[in-house]
Amino acid sequence: MSDCLFCKIIAGEIPSAKVFEDDDVFAFNDIHPKAPTHVLVIPRNHIATLADCDDSALLGILMDRVRIIADDVLNLAAGYRVVINVREGGGQEVFHLHAHILGGKKLPF
Ligand code: 5GP
Ligand code: ZN
Repeated sequence: MSDCLFCKIIAGEIPSAKVFEDDDVFAFNDIHPKAPTHVLVIPRNHIATLADCDDSALLGILMDRVRIIADDVLNLAAGYRVVINVREGGGQEVFHLHAHILGGKKLPF
């Protein structure tokens, strides 16, 4: 989608600190980290929110890549948190589906 910030990051039109990519997802450091490690994992296809996605295969791939990135790329063996904010009421600011991976310290809940 031409006016989507995260589509522009995938396309390389806006720079980002990439941590992982494959045919299905792209992952990069959050520009305003809320934890020592804060990575965003996004599907390459533009989907506005989790509430707009009924593609169970894609959602499975997204969670699978979250696990692989946390384990193999970010070395978060001690543990981590996965957050998906949904629509304005859920705190979503960028309307391209994304999972936050937060870690690197003990996270209070
Ligand atoms: P949301 O609130 O939509 O779940 O999360 C959006 C996230 O995108 C926020 O944590 C915010 O810091 C991050 N973000 C916003 N603009 C940019 C940007 O231009 N580059 C990067 N790397 N992250 C961004
Ligand atoms: Zn997009």
